[in-house]
Amino acid sequence: MGAIVISRILKKIRQSKNLENHEILTLFSAKKESDILNILQTASGIRDENNVPITLTSTVHITNECSVTPKCKYCGFAAGTSRSGYYHPFHKTDEEILQAVRIIEDSGISRVSCSGAHGHGGEHALQAARIVKEHTNLDLLVNVGTDLSADTIHQLAAHGTDTLCCNLETTNETLFSYIKPGEKFYQRVKVCNMISESGLELSSGLLIGIGESNCDRLYHLKFLRAFKTLGEIPIMGFQPYIGTPMEHHPRCSMRDQLLTIAITRILYPDIRITVPTPTIGPENVRKSLMAGANNLATVIPDSYPHDIKGVGSPVCGTLSDVRQVLDEMGLKYILRTHPLTTRQKIPVTG
Ligand code: SF4
Repeated sequence: MGAIVISRILKKIRQSKNLENHEILTLFSAKKESDILNILQTASGIRDENNVPITLTSTVHITNECSVTPKCKYCGFAAGTSRSGYYHPFHKTDEEILQAVRIIEDSGISRVSCSGAHGHGGEHALQAARIVKEHTNLDLLVNVGTDLSADTIHQLAAHGTDTLCCNLETTNETLFSYIKPGEKFYQRVKVCNMISESGLELSSGLLIGIGESNCDRLYHLKFLRAFKTLGEIPIMGFQPYIGTPMEHHPRCSMRDQLLTIAITRILYPDIRITVPTPTIGPENVRKSLMAGANNLATVIPDSYPHDIKGVGSPVCGTLSDVRQVLDEMGLKYILRTHPLTTRQKIPVTG
């Protein structure tokens, strides 16, 4: 019976008909392996029919010094939160950022995410944008959470920043307040609105497996439609970081991650769906692509100069491993082959 219902829903999707909420929830509830596979195939088919390019995004972590207090319960990124994370405070120098982004560009990866913790008045975001855009041809996403004012957003746009990220994590406000006791949900929504109003592309993602329901996930995906410059939705499966208040909370199942990626693709046929290699697990990158994702994030070139820990988990995917998966799957992806001939090669300025 379940399989028949799911086939009927998938047929509706193939006919480009809109789904009712109860139908989307039926997809979220799929249990049988064959049903799940059919949903994933439908989703990746939508990505391919829409010619959504497959891209890779590398990363630079600017600082882990975070003023949010108390810390988010899942966080292993901020200084002092987890011995498996960075633990010790750092703030990268201009030279360190420049070294990293040059190596990323030389590897052929065309996009970098520069992220940093809260409490720096957006200065760290501007520092990264200036260095990336003055010295490379990389596309740039900046993620400093809510550490942004309208003026900083304006300056980031002037520097050529391509995308600003502010993850809501969950739109279940009770859950949000529980896992992020030092932050306010409305503040994150406000920053998403400010980004959207500025005209810059907004990236805003879901952290799943933290106790939210399928209804919460569906509501969240629909909530994002309100932001008119939304161009990217990261889907991040919760992984427990040792030493944090959520270290014993179960990791997000692969089934939930894949179904959420696939349903996001069904609802947003041509959006950039990002899956960070640390949250899906580098060994599962293939599955995320099978589910309709098109941007793999936290992809680390082999010669990356700094210690790197994923934001959701300490283990990141390397460029060589990710390329091997993409090649085995026969997927075309964007990798710039001659970055050295096109970028400005000038020393970093203060
Ligand atoms: S998740 Fe972000 S805002 Fe929360 S404590 Fe960690 S670094 Fe700070």
